[in-house]
Amino acid sequence: DALFDQVGYMFVLEDDKDIETFKKSYELQRSLGLKVKLLQPEQIAEIAPHISLDGIKLATFCKDDGLGDPHEFLTGYEKAARKLGVDIEYNAEITNINTSDGKIAEINTNRGDITTELVINCAGPQASLIGKMAGVDVSVEPIRRQCVTTGELDFVKSSFPMVVDVKSGLYFHKESKGLLLGWADKNVQPSFDISIDPDYTDNILERALERIPLLETAEIGNQWAGLYETTPDHHAIIGWEPKLKGLFHVTGFSGHGFMQAPAAGLVTAEIIEGKKPSIDISALAPERFKANVSNNETNVI
Ligand SMILES: Cc1cc2nc3c(=O)[nH]c(=O)nc-3n(C[C@H](O)[C@H](O)[C@H](O)COP(=O)(O)OP(=O)(O)OC[C@H]3O[C@@H](n4cnc5c(N)ncnc54)[C@H](O)[C@@H]3O)c2cc1C
Repeated sequence: DALFDQVGYMFVLEDDKDIETFKKSYELQRSLGLKVKLLQPEQIAEIAPHISLDGIKLATFCKDDGLGDPHEFLTGYEKAARKLGVDIEYNAEITNINTSDGKIAEINTNRGDITTELVINCAGPQASLIGKMAGVDVSVEPIRRQCVTTGELDFVKSSFPMVVDVKSGLYFHKESKGLLLGWADKNVQPSFDISIDPDYTDNILERALERIPLLETAEIGNQWAGLYETTPDHHAIIGWEPKLKGLFHVTGFSGHGFMQAPAAGLVTAEIIEGKKPSIDISALAPERFKANVSNNETNVI
């Protein structure tokens, strides 16, 4: 049970440029059958009470979106894979990839070597390190992102949605009996550092207090940092490595990999089995950065 909780996603908008972009996305999403709505500021309070409407001109809301639990979700896939006979090894780190005649030949791990003609690079923030072992460039950079949770909050009811404050980059949703607050600091430089930066926390809290003034009396619950696996256009890389036979990339989800995981897994399995993928993912090909044909994702939180 992935604990999918359909509380809806709301994007609150201040700038005319963002409104224009979101209206285009709204049209596309409606054309694909999503029940997304445009909300006037006075309608926002009915769904997300106690958020300040200062500066907000419009919001989009899709009630079918929601929250899920990544650990439960992964455990479900793991159980299903084991039932199908898949062996899963924990704490097995790939340390080197040997190639021969332009093909994958063998991987070395801290638990032994494996002769293979196929490697799937799904190493998240470490994807470029796997690429380096195989002698190819993979355009994925590790970027630190921090989150803070609050203690219990009376105004956060079970239906409280995920809210993205597009102008400030703040997002929040219910977590336990309080809120989880996050923000994308655009100044963070690529690194594998996941220590907690107190200035980053202050920046999250400052933006959160502006949008949710009732947080003034809230207690901080927990905080942590993780790594986004960021590509130059903030879209995933899915496809065969053009320079090395047998290396398949499915990585670089740029902070939205949980949402895209089921579809990414499906098309990966289809392509590797030599079938036509059920979704056209040619726009995510690894070579797009060299060919300069990528299409920037504008809505990254
Ligand atoms: C703070 C934060 C909030 C996020 N919020 C969301 C969200 O709301 N929605 C959403 O969709 N996504 C979110 N994401 C992004 C999401 O977590 C990632 O996009 C997703 O986990 C990527 O999945 P993955 O399987 O590609 O990589 P990962 O989950 O990073 O897994 C990569 C795996 O590769 C393994 N690995 C790496 N190197 C090696 C090696 N040499 N040998 C063997 N194994 C190796 C790692 O141990 C790891 O298990 C968030 C990320 C962060 C940091």
